[in-house]
Amino acid sequence: MSEPQPGSETRSQSIPGSVGDVRRTNLALALTSIARAAPSGPITRAQLATATGLTKASISSLVLDLLTGGVVREVALEPRAERGRPGVGLEMNPGRAVVGMEINVDYIAAELVSLTRERLLCVKRFRDNRGSSAADVMADLAELVNTLLAEAADRGIAVIGGGLAVPGLIDQATSTVLTAPNLGWSGETLDARGLLPEARLGVTLLNEANAAALAEVRSRTGTAGPDFVFVSGEVGVGAGFVIAGSLFVGPAGHAGEIGHLVLEPEGLPCSCGGIGCLETIAGQDAILRAAGLADDPLETDMSRLLSALSSGESMAVAAVQRAATFLGMALVSTARLMGVSTVVLGGHFAVLAHWLVPPLFESMQRHAPGLIRADRVLLSSAGEGGAAFGCAGSVVQSLLDAPQFLIRPGPADVAEHP
Ligand SMILES: [Zn+2]
Repeated sequence: MSEPQPGSETRSQSIPGSVGDVRRTNLALALTSIARAAPSGPITRAQLATATGLTKASISSLVLDLLTGGVVREVALEPRAERGRPGVGLEMNPGRAVVGMEINVDYIAAELVSLTRERLLCVKRFRDNRGSSAADVMADLAELVNTLLAEAADRGIAVIGGGLAVPGLIDQATSTVLTAPNLGWSGETLDARGLLPEARLGVTLLNEANAAALAEVRSRTGTAGPDFVFVSGEVGVGAGFVIAGSLFVGPAGHAGEIGHLVLEPEGLPCSCGGIGCLETIAGQDAILRAAGLADDPLETDMSRLLSALSSGESMAVAAVQRAATFLGMALVSTARLMGVSTVVLGGHFAVLAHWLVPPLFESMQRHAPGLIRADRVLLSSAGEGGAAFGCAGSVVQSLLDAPQFLIRPGPADVAEHP
């Protein structure tokens, strides 16, 4: 056999004798190729061999593992008239899915997402989580997730993994929220795994803005380009940096705290303990307070603000303009620092775009003329629930990168020596 082995040669040379490593690489290659083919339909084993450069024997063995692991399934192809014999195609198993979850300051949410990243079902509950214990919020989230799992089961879908987004600094390895000032949490280890006890891939904890930025990477190929800053407007304000198509989180995973850039030295106290941070001006609560709408928090907030803006109420318009001015200052400073020239607005910044974007762009032009073009100020394409969707997408990606975690220990690698 003389076929090339994409992706495997370097690693097998660098780790002598690591046949298992070659097989894991090839499993990921095969699964990624099946996933990539999804928009145009099932892919045959022969097409998969061509796409991956692996031998047909190798593909047969790898596919057997992927079928056994339940990640892919076989489907009968339309028989070709002249041949008569129906072929067999492979596709990502629609009977498997992942769950993206989010705890934010004023809601909890969960979303069922297919292995081809289709958004199947979303549940969201408004809940004022400020001052609630992590255990209470997690108990309510578990209840919400269970309704989603029940619906998934009714549709014959098994959940294989999940991700949970939280608006705070996190330690992924220990599933700990180090600090989430707007929730009032500090050093809270979450039983994220317990939300999906049956899921073989477990549950990964992510920062909310990073998760939402990831959702943009997946859905924005070709629009946002490979480098952008995603800024998420919730009660808190966070950012996710995407550099060369990958999330940049800094050495400890905490980069992107744009909400705590100090913009007003004599400003208001911030949840972080500082003074005059962007969040005290452009966070959801800050805007509502400035608009005179802060008396009754929770779900009516944004709709009330939107209707106040629609009827041209001066306090509401001024509050959004002021938030936009300071957000513009923060964004051009960030853009200079990170060397990016595209920004993607998410959360309430996207919801308020009609009123927010013109003064935002004016501010950016005034403070950094020509740095960010008007057509490089984009709105989140993932829309509401971007963080939950981003979490789900990152679980799908980790499955594509390492499908062996869903598969029983395999037989010896199919020999494929040059
Ligand atoms: Zn702050």
